[in-house]
Amino acid sequence: PRIVDDEEGGVLFLSSAASSSSSSGFGYGSMEKQRQRLPVYKYRTAILYLVETHATSIIVGETGSGKTTQIPQYLKEAGWADGGRVIACTQPRRLAVQSVAARVAEEMGVKLGEEVGYTIRFEDLTNTNTTMIKFLTDGVLLREMMDDPLLTKYSVIMVDEAHERSISTDILLGLLKKIQRRRPELRLIISSATIEAKSMSAFFQTSKRRRLEGEELGPRMEPAILSVEGRGFSVQIHFAEEPVSDYVQAVVSTVLSIHNQEPMGDILVFLTGQDDIDTAVKLLNEEAQSNGKNSSGLLVLPLYSGLPRAEQELIFTPTPRGKRKVVISTNIAETSLTLEGIVYVVDSGFSKQRFYNPISDIENLVVAPISKASARQRAGRAGRVRPGKCYRLYTEEYFVNEMSAEGIPEMQRSNLVSCVIQLKALGIDNILGFDWPASPSPEAMIRALEVLYSLGVLEDDAKLTSPAGFQVAEIPLEPMISKMILSSNELGCSEEILTIAATLSIQSIWVSGRGVQKELDEAKLRFAAAEGDHVTFLNVYKGFLQSGKSSQWCHKNHVNYQAMKKVIEIRGQLRRIAQRLGIVLKSCEGDMKAVRKAVTAGFFANACRLEAFSHSGMYKTVRGSQEVYIHPSSVLFRVNPKWVIFHSLVSTDRQYMRNVISIDPSWLREAAPHFYQHQPHNAIGH
Ligand code: ADP
Ligand code: MG
Repeated sequence: PRIVDDEEGGVLFLSSAASSSSSSGFGYGSMEKQRQRLPVYKYRTAILYLVETHATSIIVGETGSGKTTQIPQYLKEAGWADGGRVIACTQPRRLAVQSVAARVAEEMGVKLGEEVGYTIRFEDLTNTNTTMIKFLTDGVLLREMMDDPLLTKYSVIMVDEAHERSISTDILLGLLKKIQRRRPELRLIISSATIEAKSMSAFFQTSKRRRLEGEELGPRMEPAILSVEGRGFSVQIHFAEEPVSDYVQAVVSTVLSIHNQEPMGDILVFLTGQDDIDTAVKLLNEEAQSNGKNSSGLLVLPLYSGLPRAEQELIFTPTPRGKRKVVISTNIAETSLTLEGIVYVVDSGFSKQRFYNPISDIENLVVAPISKASARQRAGRAGRVRPGKCYRLYTEEYFVNEMSAEGIPEMQRSNLVSCVIQLKALGIDNILGFDWPASPSPEAMIRALEVLYSLGVLEDDAKLTSPAGFQVAEIPLEPMISKMILSSNELGCSEEILTIAATLSIQSIWVSGRGVQKELDEAKLRFAAAEGDHVTFLNVYKGFLQSGKSSQWCHKNHVNYQAMKKVIEIRGQLRRIAQRLGIVLKSCEGDMKAVRKAVTAGFFANACRLEAFSHSGMYKTVRGSQEVYIHPSSVLFRVNPKWVIFHSLVSTDRQYMRNVISIDPSWLREAAPHFYQHQPHNAIGH
């Protein structure tokens, strides 16, 4: 690679380089000293003043400047948590919530779950009586509005990582703007790593509340903007000279060449998801074993959302002397988490993104190119402790001419079914007229309404049905899964469906990775059910229980032990929710027809039919006639039943269905007469 400048024509300077060195401060100075060394500390008084005097404050600052960990503490120190009030700080990612909460508890010297706590879906580590600072996902805060629409227990809500524009963040911003009108004493802080502050400010500007005469004491309604000057160091950018065909392989060779040629300093690699991260970790470790000289001293660690707590902690542990840490991460390390000691960044140029096409009514997770804004964020991770280097695995020509400037808000590339039902449950009836930070497409909105109507959760007048609509909204899962759970009540298979719902809400119950594919396939065969993956899950769950929840059993069967523990935990919670909703807990004792019907009742919109005479296993979606294939990880791969329903799609060279179950087409009309009424007769059933 050659050294070239960033498009601005100079070496990318992330802001004035300061003289101070690492802020990690391990082993020197107290925690308090460490806190004071963070860039945000100089703004402590200014931030507190702005929050005092403005309803909304927008705070922009480089990743690692201390926004997330410090501002909530400043607020607490200034009394915003007095009198039983709570300071909330939202994050788009669950892992960030856990990690940041743990860090703040440590800094304050308190036990996590008391003064400082966190809540993510299915995990609440807070104490109603003592928690003053609460970290939570933006999705969880949205859910809390169902019980407390004005979020009365919070004095300040900090919406963090707003630049990510996650769908929940955007909904939350729209709703908070409404709440503010009713609760002028509520303070909002919108924090972000990039300067998108102007549009954010404009969004909150329109909420200007006319001041009543004589009312001078309230906060100013126009948002304040504060920019925290970071102290990043220069980062040299290296582009690939030729386009890269296999970025996992390119990551491995780039890491090895940095390790062999560059001075000490940790490496942060951006890949797209658990699969390619596990692969890269494995290849690097193999390299370390076979080729001792080149790669000894490498400590290779994965970082992605499903990571167990113990492994998360390794990421933040200081690198042992004489070692070089290599963290291989999803874009969670782009801005959500700050890793110390990174000097080299390897950027694959891709991330996993959700895309939804309302015309074909298909949503999938796609490995897609990142934006220039993301590329700069990624590069910036190398300049935290001293001047660093960033290796981009794409050409400069590509960066300059083809990469888009900014990402598209998730709201505009998602299926809106969950979003619409949540707003409905909060009593927002005019969804098209809702004040969005970024408007979703009307087509996507209409599609969502149509599905919800077919699920029986919306009335003709687009209000939630009672009780079904409210029940579906209350279960903290996607509406289709919630509907499946409700239907299992009538079909007498709620115990089985709860297991399936819990399993579908985690990434995978299998241990995966390049090289173990054969063993994994064999293991799966032991559990494989002719009906499909959902029923296979039931077999694995049963086996796990019969083994006495043994980790050895998991190991032997290529089942992920952590994942199974999580399934048990989530299932327990869903069971309690189901009981609260009056669902009778009952097993169908092996009647898999009932189970498949319940799945159909929720997921009829994902029905597909095998193309006649198709030897390639091509299916078409019943609704949109889209070409889809069964994913090789499914137990129905190559079995190809005529009619199937999938849980989700992933797109690589083709659209692949993940988690597939076979059905009888006559169940579709039964489950959703409205949805399928316009289908030609030969399209479903005969
Ligand atoms: P920002 O939100 O502005 O990106 P943070 O508040 O997350 O910054 O991080 C500030 C500093 O706190 C980081 O530079 C890092 O040194 C430290 N830090 C944050 N989280 C952890 C953690 N889990 N373990 C150790 N140090 C951490
Ligand atoms: Mg942060």
